[in-house]
Amino acid sequence: MIVIFRQDATEEQIQSTIRKIESLGYTPHLSRGTVKTICGVTGDDRAIGESEFDQLPGVESVLRVLKPYKLASREFHPDPTFVEAGGVTIGPGSFSVIAGPCSVETEEQVEASAKLVASLGLKLFRGGAFKPRSSPYSFQGLGEQGLEILSAAARRHGLTVVTEIMSEHDVDLVGRYTGIFQVGARNMQNFALLKAIGETRRPVLLKRSMMGTIEELLLSAEYIMKGGNPHVILCERGIRTFETQTRNTLDIAAVPVIKRLSHLPILVDPSHAMGDWHYVAPASLAALAAGADGIIVEIHPDPAMALSDGKQSLNHAHFGDLMGKIRALAPHLGVQVR
Ligand code: PEP
Ligand code: MN
Repeated sequence: MIVIFRQDATEEQIQSTIRKIESLGYTPHLSRGTVKTICGVTGDDRAIGESEFDQLPGVESVLRVLKPYKLASREFHPDPTFVEAGGVTIGPGSFSVIAGPCSVETEEQVEASAKLVASLGLKLFRGGAFKPRSSPYSFQGLGEQGLEILSAAARRHGLTVVTEIMSEHDVDLVGRYTGIFQVGARNMQNFALLKAIGETRRPVLLKRSMMGTIEELLLSAEYIMKGGNPHVILCERGIRTFETQTRNTLDIAAVPVIKRLSHLPILVDPSHAMGDWHYVAPASLAALAAGADGIIVEIHPDPAMALSDGKQSLNHAHFGDLMGKIRALAPHLGVQVR
């Protein structure tokens, strides 16, 4: 349910409405927008009627939100959400590029990629130390040693780390090294993990699962937000379809659909969507044109030698070319590349 205040509602009227919401056992979520001040109400709202609120002084109207997600919905928060991490603001008006290796392998590899990312004027550096591999025989990542290598390189080059967390038991460990938690596609519905991240106030990049609907993605965001962490960045990374020429099918439609349904920023991962570096640049440019707030891209100094996802990783020269195209296109769309 959403309580919409009149333009001339006084602060006392707003606060007294909030107290009423709390006294009925519900949680208020005040949002002071550019046009209207509204207050979302969460909890089991089937029991209460609109009439509890629509007669209160200062209240213009009361709306029921029929969507199963509330805090993630546009209705609850009409203005866009901007997520700040390491001096970068992710959200409308900018195109944030997160780049780095699929996996942390060696100090030299990570140093080379960090140096390139910084030299291209970017601030967000990805790399996996805990890897969710389909096969238990594949490289599983370097764990804490990988986090150390990643964060040391990031520090040397003034970058902010984005790295995957796979278990709710690792929040403190991964949290010591990362600026943004990454929740991978396979963990989109790891509810224990989502709740644990919801207890923190650290930004989180939440990837859509390969068989997750947009609604399920937004419900997973809701788990994090319900815990009190509003800093959620969504990510479309391709879904599984009948098509086999690409690793997944990039659901570019998810970008405008999510923009309408939700106020949260949405990034695209062209690397896991396409699965082949040849298609990463076109998919990245499509993401920019479709209105995504950025991309997360895999790069490697020598993709043929990569321990994971080499086929879809851009080499450094190709990534430089892609950044040139992004920087050429972005001003036409009124966005700044960060
Ligand atoms: C990754 O970013 O390295 C990754 C494993 O991605 P996804 O969770 O989207 O498969
Ligand atoms: Mn990968």
